[in-house]
Amino acid sequence: MNKKQKKNLIRIIVSAALMIILHFVPVEGLIKLVLYMIPYLIIGYDILIKAGKGIINKQPFDECLLMAIATIGAIILGIIGSGDYVEAVAVMLFYQIGEWFQSYAVGKSRKNITDLMDIRPDYANIDDGNGSLEKVDPDDVEVGTVITVKPGEKIPIDGIIEEGTSTLNTAALTGESLPRDVVKGDEVISGCVNINGVLRIRTTKEFDESTASKILELIEEASTRKSRSEDFITRFARIYTPAVVFSALALAIIPPIAIMLISGNITFGTWIYRALIFLVISCPCALVISIPLSFFAGIGSASSHGILVKGSSFLELLSQTKTIVFDKTGTLTRGTFEVTAIHPQKIDAKHLLHMAAHVERYSSHPIAMSLKEAYKDENDGCSVENVEEIPGRGIKATVNGHALAVGNEKMMADLDITPKKCHKVGTTLHVVMDNEYVGHIVISDVIKEHSKEAIAALKANGVERAVMLTGDSEEVAKDVAETLGLDEYHAGLLPGDKVERVEKLFKEKTGEDAKIAFVGDGINDAPVLTRADIGIAMGGMGSDAAIEAADVVLMDDDPLKIATALKISRKCLRIVKENIWFAIGVKLICLLLGAVGIANMWVAIFADVGVMVIAVLNAIRCLHVSKR
Ligand code: ADP
Ligand code: MG
Repeated sequence: MNKKQKKNLIRIIVSAALMIILHFVPVEGLIKLVLYMIPYLIIGYDILIKAGKGIINKQPFDECLLMAIATIGAIILGIIGSGDYVEAVAVMLFYQIGEWFQSYAVGKSRKNITDLMDIRPDYANIDDGNGSLEKVDPDDVEVGTVITVKPGEKIPIDGIIEEGTSTLNTAALTGESLPRDVVKGDEVISGCVNINGVLRIRTTKEFDESTASKILELIEEASTRKSRSEDFITRFARIYTPAVVFSALALAIIPPIAIMLISGNITFGTWIYRALIFLVISCPCALVISIPLSFFAGIGSASSHGILVKGSSFLELLSQTKTIVFDKTGTLTRGTFEVTAIHPQKIDAKHLLHMAAHVERYSSHPIAMSLKEAYKDENDGCSVENVEEIPGRGIKATVNGHALAVGNEKMMADLDITPKKCHKVGTTLHVVMDNEYVGHIVISDVIKEHSKEAIAALKANGVERAVMLTGDSEEVAKDVAETLGLDEYHAGLLPGDKVERVEKLFKEKTGEDAKIAFVGDGINDAPVLTRADIGIAMGGMGSDAAIEAADVVLMDDDPLKIATALKISRKCLRIVKENIWFAIGVKLICLLLGAVGIANMWVAIFADVGVMVIAVLNAIRCLHVSKR
């Protein structure tokens, strides 16, 4: 319970106690009114202020106004006739109990989200200089410090293993319980749990910049970024609330006037009372409470599957996704290329690979990673300078004084070099040394294990069009697209072309609500990630650029997670809609009963709170979505 919740709980208890005590105090008239005003104002002052502010800002129609009118109306009825003020206090009281329940449940679900992602490290072990270990606050550990992680402990800070081998459990990060083996020299990220060996890790980041901290930060931001769901309620309330207010007004005026004209009886009191009941019943707080809660729970559920959704608005957009656009390399394919052929010209094969790998030394493109893997002697004393990476084309650098360029046919065209055609299917990397063509390296990628299943699952979850965009060659693209059953593909695209393609898809949209999602690995596709309605990043573990640019981040690179995310979003939106219909349905029935005088104020109050509780319980179902 936070401070505000405590304060509100105290207000609720105090005013409830006062209300009960006053019930037994035998006073009448003005003194009674003044006495009842004490609990009324204690419990309702903020609602009255909010209602007042709404009127001043010319946006009066919210549930605060409903509560304000209903209670002030009840007080006026008390003054002019009944002399009873309990109902006014009770309406405010129960409304505040509902509000309190909401904030408590939201807080709980927020905590659930962080609990689900049980990754917050509490300490780091460092050498105290006397050969034993000391537990310190990870915040105080400087970059480059060697920390020790014992079996069963969480890795607190990102780093590289200096000593030891072990198996890591990444379940908290990815939602998958596949253990990962690590050895000396491997990069490890915070939030993973060390299962067996003792690891000595040299940290490469500050605690704040480490993966676990970053993810927690994202989650916290996500829970505050609820623009769309709020908007959802506001949009709804914009029609609903005024309709209720005017209906109540009509109910208070028309029937008594009609009765007066027909029979001459004065029944204004009864009808005003009924109108007030009408107002209380129709308070939309069940929706105001359950809708944000559903989104929170949906985001929580997603994070337990290793899917970070950066805000409820993206959950809503995700549920409306009709077109999904994939980047190829690293998204549908593993992005770990194997060298399948080396065709040198003028120099020998080893030299060709050597040079190419050096050019790629500082690149983090999957192609670069693979070449470095194929040629392991990275630090063999060669000098690599003037590196210039040209997105979608290739990379240039000066290696040992030679001007080198590695890239595709587009790059060759730019350099005015005619590359040799290769008969092998795969991604061909042409190499140019000192303006002379020295051969090419053919590499080929493997389709990810779950890609095909993922496409099918997406289709089963409402996606109508699956498109692949790639900078790779036509043959490779065609092969992948056919294997996976994609609807269309476009090859040979530069990062800018990918944006254009997506623009084109926007023009071909079937409707306002047919959203376009783009899935990429954040390498060469950040512009598209931001342009699409929803950018989904294959975060890889710890690729900062992608995590930053995207709206949804998959903590591991499994494309099946996209389908899971879609499923969660659809369930969540379905529950939101259920709650809307349920709440409105029940309220309509109660309103009719109230209008004909069957329901009194107490029935109204309890009907309102009851609907809210059911809606909240329904919302909590968003937390549970099965994997497949
Ligand atoms: P994708 O769209 O499949 O993710 P990219 O846009 O990242 O591919 O790259 C498209 C093409 O550009 C690659 O297939 C490759 O031919 C070339 N290329 C890009 N970066 C590099 C690099 N670092 N080294 C060599 N070739 C590269
Ligand atoms: Mg790419």
